[in-house]
Amino acid sequence: MAADACRWSCARCAVSVGRMDGEPSILPPSWSQLDDETFCLTCSRARAGEAAMESAPDESSREERVRLRRTALIEFEIGRVPEASNRVVALACRTSGAAVAAVRDRMEQSTVPAPDLDARSVA
Ligand SMILES: [Zn+2]
Repeated sequence: MAADACRWSCARCAVSVGRMDGEPSILPPSWSQLDDETFCLTCSRARAGEAAMESAPDESSREERVRLRRTALIEFEIGRVPEASNRVVALACRTSGAAVAAVRDRMEQSTVPAPDLDARSVA
């Protein structure tokens, strides 16, 4: 259908966005595209969390899986909008600002090489 070609629809929940006048529209910035499939923001978040839970070792407890999912969600949200404040990310992930700050600290430590290695003890 020609009208559908101008709309984006989520492969997971089937919600769709697009212009009412049928003009081609670009993918909304909050959506993500993977291979031929597009996902709305809600589903992109859910998928990030599910992937983390699936990657958990079999012996993981329910709490550990929930924690993994929450961390993955925070990482996803920080990766999506790195400039967002911890408070904004916390609201989006329904968690605390402290939890976001902890994840952000860890992400920054693991991805950005320390510029002042000489000043640190590496023993
Ligand atoms: Zn969706």
